[in-house]
Amino acid sequence: MKLRPLLVAFLLFAVIPQAKPHANSSALALTHVTVIDATGAPAQPNMNVVIANGRIAAIGERVHIPEDAEIIDATGKFLIPGLWDMHVHWGDTDYLPLFLANGVTGIRIMWGSPINYEWRKQSAAGELLAPHLVIASPIIDGPNPFWPGSISVSTEAQARAAVDQAKQRGADFVKILSFLPREEYFAIADEAKKQSISFAGHVPIAVTAEEASNAGQKSFEHLLGILPACSTRSAELAEGARADLADDLAAPRPAFWGAHTKASRQLLLDSYSPEKAAALFAILKKNGTWQCPTLTLLRVTAFAEDPSSFTNDPRLKYIPPRMKTGWNPPGIAQDYGDSAFAAKEFQKDLEVVGAMQKAGVGILAGTDTSNPYCMPGFSLHDELGLLVKAGLTPMEALQTATLNPARFSGSEKDFGTIETGKVADLVLLDANPLDDIANTKKINSVIYGGKLFPRAELDHMLAQVEALAARPLIGNVLMKTIQEKNIAAAVAQYHDLKSNQPNGYDFSEQEFIGLGYGLLHMKKTPEAIEIFKLSVEAYPESYNTWDSLAEAYMDHGDKELAIQNYKKSLEVDPKNANAVNKLKQLNAP
Ligand SMILES: [Zn+2]
Repeated sequence: MKLRPLLVAFLLFAVIPQAKPHANSSALALTHVTVIDATGAPAQPNMNVVIANGRIAAIGERVHIPEDAEIIDATGKFLIPGLWDMHVHWGDTDYLPLFLANGVTGIRIMWGSPINYEWRKQSAAGELLAPHLVIASPIIDGPNPFWPGSISVSTEAQARAAVDQAKQRGADFVKILSFLPREEYFAIADEAKKQSISFAGHVPIAVTAEEASNAGQKSFEHLLGILPACSTRSAELAEGARADLADDLAAPRPAFWGAHTKASRQLLLDSYSPEKAAALFAILKKNGTWQCPTLTLLRVTAFAEDPSSFTNDPRLKYIPPRMKTGWNPPGIAQDYGDSAFAAKEFQKDLEVVGAMQKAGVGILAGTDTSNPYCMPGFSLHDELGLLVKAGLTPMEALQTATLNPARFSGSEKDFGTIETGKVADLVLLDANPLDDIANTKKINSVIYGGKLFPRAELDHMLAQVEALAARPLIGNVLMKTIQEKNIAAAVAQYHDLKSNQPNGYDFSEQEFIGLGYGLLHMKKTPEAIEIFKLSVEAYPESYNTWDSLAEAYMDHGDKELAIQNYKKSLEVDPKNANAVNKLKQLNAP
């Protein structure tokens, strides 16, 4: 009996004679795994996959496994490439783990902001765990932009300058929105070509889908422009859209669904022509125009009449509460009107996506995360399910989040499939996604850049985010105090809570920004200024806090202080386009 410890020690040494300490082990090997490589090839059972230096070093039934490799017996499991969500809006660092915990190893950011570039830098330096990023320019929209903070262009020269600015600032592509007039749109298309930067986004109201495809727009989002182009009455519909745009340019805020478009919803469905659709799809295929239908988002507008299926979603516990408060199904229903009809439209959307896939049009999986009930990481799996519902095979659906994004981005050398030499972004599943696409949710482990995150670690990441999301929001607490007492009491309360309960509340930057803008909206400008001052005190390294304080001063008519703070914002981040533009408007020296 006394010999046993010795024997154990001996056996360990015998098995791994010169093994490096575990923590230094650079290689990883998955053995006996079924590989679904996403090239379209059938699943390959009983494979060994060796990962070294962050890349896939070998795949095969018989491959050399380095002696120091950490070995994972993956018998009965299925390996797919890391997933990409190709339509995401996200700026909250604390909640980034939701992507990786769901096997989403890459995202396309559709409204680029400095924080996204910061993530990329920190991730490369090993300081932050963030998915790979493809980052858009700020949104470029017409003279009356939909979203505050967009780059608004009213002339061809401004449109070209906006593309130039995007290129200079390192955006991966130019993002455009619905309310761009024709001249500005075609100027963007032309300038983007000259500058070798792609442009993508909404098909503007003023432009047809054929025109946008022929102009080189790289991806269409949300199927915008598709149904009108498939209609036998497309000329009439285009005329209505032009009238809507004229209304939009004159309105205080443009509407995504203008009066004419709303009135022609039935016509749009009734006049759908498979022949016209086939002709359009041939153009999209020939031009290599990708479709990112964001069915997850379209489903929300379509099923707003049955809100409980959304409001009871258990995954909501992971969502930042300040975001959730804006997720309001009755509001969505009101916006879109007649949700029973919207459900019919959604059926049509599914049908069209299936037809596009059959016609060889490239489809990208995208969720529009941060829109109501479109959740980081989780919703990508919903999107894959909806794509299968639309008629894609599970393999085709899988490719919309793996191979297709890599092709779209021209990064096939590194991403998209499980092949030797590629970056080791992989998801190990407990069940076969080709049998049921919902099995992509049965995640056993995630491998990101060669680093293994076993289930226990993913659960830990999720639990941490859940705890973050459960904290009370400082913005709500202070708003109550401002309303019941005054701003001075709120400022004192903040300092008290911050020093005595630093982890008890959500003190994040967005809380101050949200509260400040809420106050501006209520015409409580002096109060807003005090709140933005707190945000500058708490987050002096954020361009956004200075920028917001500057805006409040501008609202207050205090031009000098506005200029000072916009300049401060630029010091923190010279890429802040808004500050540059505002300083120009203010004729700052
Ligand atoms: Zn979007």
